[in-house]
Amino acid sequence: MRPGTGYPDGLGDVRIEFWGAAGEVTGSCYVVHTPRARVLIDAGLHQGEREAFEHNQRLPGDLSSIDSMVLTHAHLDHAGRLPMLARKGYTGPVYSTAPTADLCEILLMDSARLQEADAARRARKGPTQNGDPEPLYTPEHVPAALALLRPTSLEVWTPVAPGVQARLVDSGHILGSASVELKIDRPGEPAARVVFSGDIGPRGMPLLLDPTIPGSEGSPPDLVVMESTYGDRDHRTLESTISELREIMHQAIWAKERVLIPAFAIGRSQLAIYYLGRLAGEGVTPTLPVYLDSPMAIAAMKLYHRYADQLDERMNYRGARGRSALDYPELHLCETVEESQRLNDRDGPLAIIAGSGMCNGGRIVHHLRHHLWKRDTRVLIPGYQAANTLGRRLVSGAASVRIFGDEIPIRAKIDTVGGLSAHAGRSELIEWAAASRRGGRCPIVLTHGEDPQRESLALALSEKLGARVLRPAFGESIEVPAPART
Ligand SMILES: [Zn+2]
Repeated sequence: MRPGTGYPDGLGDVRIEFWGAAGEVTGSCYVVHTPRARVLIDAGLHQGEREAFEHNQRLPGDLSSIDSMVLTHAHLDHAGRLPMLARKGYTGPVYSTAPTADLCEILLMDSARLQEADAARRARKGPTQNGDPEPLYTPEHVPAALALLRPTSLEVWTPVAPGVQARLVDSGHILGSASVELKIDRPGEPAARVVFSGDIGPRGMPLLLDPTIPGSEGSPPDLVVMESTYGDRDHRTLESTISELREIMHQAIWAKERVLIPAFAIGRSQLAIYYLGRLAGEGVTPTLPVYLDSPMAIAAMKLYHRYADQLDERMNYRGARGRSALDYPELHLCETVEESQRLNDRDGPLAIIAGSGMCNGGRIVHHLRHHLWKRDTRVLIPGYQAANTLGRRLVSGAASVRIFGDEIPIRAKIDTVGGLSAHAGRSELIEWAAASRRGGRCPIVLTHGEDPQRESLALALSEKLGARVLRPAFGESIEVPAPART
């Protein structure tokens, strides 16, 4: 018996199981076990890593025992397995911000189509290739998943399961992205507080507001779980990024190049349009035709306009002719496959923004296949490229890459513009960690980072903050320390 509680030993414990983003940047999925409930934080797709296929198939425990779920934001590596959980029998509520719920509608339908296409490709290769040819889910499973979404307001406590309340705050990463704070009742003890960072955006990034530090009442949390994507390095400053971009676009326009920009449909695509518009607005570069070749990015852009009140002053300022920061005058929207294919024959200078952000699927792969071997092409990589993705092979200087069975020599210029990342750099992560501990001394759990980045950040956090830092492996469970009695 747990002394003074009337509960058996262990029943008052709170622990977290890590079913993804443990030593990798994709597949975020954590189960919070509390005395009276189980709450899932995110249900992301694993992408790129060797075990991705197997890990995607694996459920985070018995779904009927999970009371509710909280989604941090509408990126596939955080929300992409939601329809699979609904398909396998999860019927509980899914709490998120309102923009995240709306973005999920476009994200998950697109993902379902990609799942079907991947499954068809596996089926063609035969049953021995990567096991099950069955897709994780198809478009018909998406409406049931969307019906579970419960949009909630930022910065209010919402009861999400028996004895568990959640509070979402803006994490500044994409429209609607949130950090999550949980308050968990424990028998005979003060409530436990656990903070999940979600993906943390950099400060000062255009369009978005800066991240809000979780913790409404100033009480220190008992555990902080945070991302470590760029745990080993800082980004370039915004000013130097813009001058770098200006230089690249100058060269591209002068040499009449075709600039291919692989970008996540949600977040990075809108940021890319903003920057190209800003350069054109300065009059430094001519207004280059920009093709947004992604129905999902086009739909997401409409939501950026709809939720402008949750974004920064650039989105709310109306300049000449009532244009906002995303109204680029030479922007062409490519909704259909035919419109996308027509771009193959178009000569530069022009820019094409297409998904996926790590070149492991989507229309960008077709553009790369058509143009990587040409010297009048430039690939502008604006974000993180996970291990084993086509994007990673491009940035690591491969001489050729295999696309749809063809070996394509790389003659295009490959530029990485690090300062456009939607993730905080190392110094900002350390500052975020210090602030979110709110003067307490709780342990910090590092997730959502490959091992070199997470080890580097772990060392910095223990040296600079004196923090105990934990780095869970896939499937590992960590107990939330008992709150200090007051
Ligand atoms: Zn994200």
